[in-house]
Amino acid sequence: MPEASANPAAPPAKAAERSGPQRAMDKLGLKRDIDLALHLPLRYEDETRLVPIAHLRDGTPAQVEGQVTDARIEQRPRRQLVVRLRDDSGELLLRFLHFYPSHQKSLVEGARVRARGEPRDGFFGLEMVHPQFKAVDLGAPLAQSLTPVYPSSAQLPQAYLRKAVASALGRAPLHEILPPGAVPHGLPPLREALHWLHHPPPSASMAALEDHSHPAWQRLKYEELLAQQLSQLWARQERAKLGAPAMPRRRGALHDQFLAALPFQLTAAQQRVVDEIATDLALAQPMHRLLQGDVGSGKTVVAALAAAITIDAGWQCALMAPTEILAEQHFRKLVQWLAPLGIEVAWLTGSRKGKARTAMVERVASGQARLVIGTHAVIQKDVQFARLGLAIVDEQHRFGVAQRLALREKLAHATLEPHLLMMSATPIPRTLAMSYFADLAVSTIDELPPGRTPVLTKLFADNRRAEVISKIGAEVAQGRQVYWVCPLIEESETLDLQNATETHAQLSAALPGRMVGLLHGRMPSAEKAAVMSLFASGEMAVLVATTVIEVGVDVPNASLMVIEHAERFGLSQLHQLRGRVGRGATASVCVLLYSGPLSPSAKDRLRAMAETNDGFEIARRDLDIRGPGEFMGARQSGDALLRFADLAEDAALLERARRAAATLIEQDARAAHAHVERWLDSRLDFLKA
Ligand code: ADP
Ligand code: MG
Repeated sequence: MPEASANPAAPPAKAAERSGPQRAMDKLGLKRDIDLALHLPLRYEDETRLVPIAHLRDGTPAQVEGQVTDARIEQRPRRQLVVRLRDDSGELLLRFLHFYPSHQKSLVEGARVRARGEPRDGFFGLEMVHPQFKAVDLGAPLAQSLTPVYPSSAQLPQAYLRKAVASALGRAPLHEILPPGAVPHGLPPLREALHWLHHPPPSASMAALEDHSHPAWQRLKYEELLAQQLSQLWARQERAKLGAPAMPRRRGALHDQFLAALPFQLTAAQQRVVDEIATDLALAQPMHRLLQGDVGSGKTVVAALAAAITIDAGWQCALMAPTEILAEQHFRKLVQWLAPLGIEVAWLTGSRKGKARTAMVERVASGQARLVIGTHAVIQKDVQFARLGLAIVDEQHRFGVAQRLALREKLAHATLEPHLLMMSATPIPRTLAMSYFADLAVSTIDELPPGRTPVLTKLFADNRRAEVISKIGAEVAQGRQVYWVCPLIEESETLDLQNATETHAQLSAALPGRMVGLLHGRMPSAEKAAVMSLFASGEMAVLVATTVIEVGVDVPNASLMVIEHAERFGLSQLHQLRGRVGRGATASVCVLLYSGPLSPSAKDRLRAMAETNDGFEIARRDLDIRGPGEFMGARQSGDALLRFADLAEDAALLERARRAAATLIEQDARAAHAHVERWLDSRLDFLKA
């Protein structure tokens, strides 16, 4: 068991003075004692007992102790260190394909060694390959509790992290805040639960630990869900005190003219969500609504209708998108729909500067521009709205905390609060969304427009690249268009670019007489816009792009998408990319080119893509595939919603937290507040956004 020692993380040293592991802990967000106390093990190792060698079972991890009777380097056929270990009951081989001089030093004949690993029936009898091992004295004490294995990083050794967690656990303020009535029966106090999870006794059920069903785990999940519910209830109470412009839908006005001019009919689902939104907009209280729908479900037209209602009522509407390409698409589409009806639409992005920008900002301030579309440029300081009635945020999860806060602040300058509509293509199941987002009304488009043929997804190993390129030729010959998405090379935009440029050259050579375009994040936006418009008009047959096209690009004639190195992409990102095809009536194909060897989770992702087109199902599987470790990064950015609870698994616990939150706020506001502070701390601002 790790001993409590001076906490290596404790001294408030300046960043420059912190050691490598300390900096690695900072990076993981492990700064305060409470952060470390809440950093839970991924799994455990059992060093509490010794198994006689004769009792080892093939495939069952175990710890043994014995004497080294022989150690030598062999070539069979690879150079390796082979060690014979013997106890009273039998003999075992330890095999090391990678080893250092230090291995040879500890594993000398006569040494007493404790080794832990998974025994296998090998050719030369029972063996462990690369076991953990240490030299021990006869009768050395065994661990008193299971050994935690924490989510970590390469710069942060487990042993270091274990010590840091153990000592932080002793210091962290873990007193019971909640009154007994606010905690479901059978769940242990928080301090007890955490000590148990970090250092479970040898008798603990591994299964209950690993599937998180143990009451100690349940307590943590419950705490988290309760904090989340409380903070949302507060936000809702605060919002209810504010007034917003009541904007009733007027029949016969812009809204109806727009519908009449649309070349298609709304789906029943679109009709329903438009009604939900219109009902909210008619109230003198700010709407706070999430519109979710799979890629291609037609959220833009719903946004346009909400804008029309706002403009009809004499107010302005702002539409903000996370990237310039996406904002531009919205701009084109909405201008195409609304300009003929006499609506002035302003366009604000980072690349629009100088006089053009000043003129735009003036039109917004005077209220002449009724609809304002853009990127974060919409929330810059100098942009003032005359009468902002509705703010729409597309792909809202892609905006950072700071940007969402800035939006709120921008909107708060008037005496009336504008309505807020957030849109997302990363759905969570509807009933869960409703109880989880206590502070958010949710509208779901659960149906695609008619006439879509589901996209067929095919997996190809990348040695079949030539075959894929000839398929592109065939597609283009039929007047269709093709996207080729280049791989994501983390932390290297330069390599991204190089790869995209090479692919572009290769495809241009393979498709003489066809226009093949290139689009990447580093291009000046005017150039990006020019490329996009050539592709949108159909002149350009193939578009080679980095992930800049990930969200929102809409070119219905594109029927083939190739994603290179698909194994490097996350599941929801792949689904978003695939959503760029299958937008017209033609049968579309998405080819996922991969290169092996694939990690188990990469295999799961690719399989999920091949098996389903349903965004809800994809979202569910994504949660399954991403282990708790992978939430770390997201947690830092403040965007991971939950660290411990799982919306799919813990629906019952969520329901209890929801009910308890309402009671607690009424009966013990002080405890409610202290609880939220402990759990959400710096994320409080974020939740208000
Ligand atoms: P997303 O929900 O992914 O933002 P879009 O709003 O871009 O989807 O819509 C995808 C495509 O479907 C667009 O070309 C849009 O014009 C078209 N579309 C939307 N609603 C309908 C409908 N009811 N019938 C036919 N086509 C529709
Ligand atoms: Mg969209």
